Amino acid sequence: MPEFLAYIGLGANLGDAPAALRGAVQAMEALPGAQVLQCSALYRSAPVDAAGPDFHNAVVALRSTLAPEELLAALQAIEATAGRERPYRNAPRTLDLDILLCGDLAISTPTLTVPHPRMRERAFVLVPLAEIAPGLVEPAWLDAVRSQHIERLDQAW
Ligand code: AMP
Repeated sequence: MPEFLAYIGLGANLGDAPAALRGAVQAMEALPGAQVLQCSALYRSAPVDAAGPDFHNAVVALRSTLAPEELLAALQAIEATAGRERPYRNAPRTLDLDILLCGDLAISTPTLTVPHPRMRERAFVLVPLAEIAPGLVEPAWLDAVRSQHIERLDQAW
């Protein structure tokens, strides 16, 4: 598999969410076939179509020699290790990892859609993505999600 640059959206809104995101980045760094190149700042956002407390969010760029489906499986294993359960759709989650982009690839299989189909609707994806990859986010997309509350946190993470 030729390598590609993937962007991963991270979110958590249960327990110590910043610690969950830190743990996820460490787990991604430890994946054979993936190398974390960049991390956005940490953000806090109000839930969109989801229950519970505010989310913490971030986006990371990673170079992957794993195939996209293998990367998805690896990310799902990281989610499972973080104790994520899915009692019902959009339930609060200890850790949610989404593949936003895989280079220029367009993927549509029963288990994986890339670019992520809802990424343009979500400030908590677009704002951190624009921070680390401004060329990938059109100003009009940011304008369209301006009403969604998101706050950039100063804390190191
Ligand atoms: P979620 O509950 O939001 O974590 O959604 C998980 C489900 O979405 C899994 O069953 C994945 O197979 C599927 N899925 C489809 N496209 C993607 C993507 N780009 N990134 C992550 N999960 C995806």
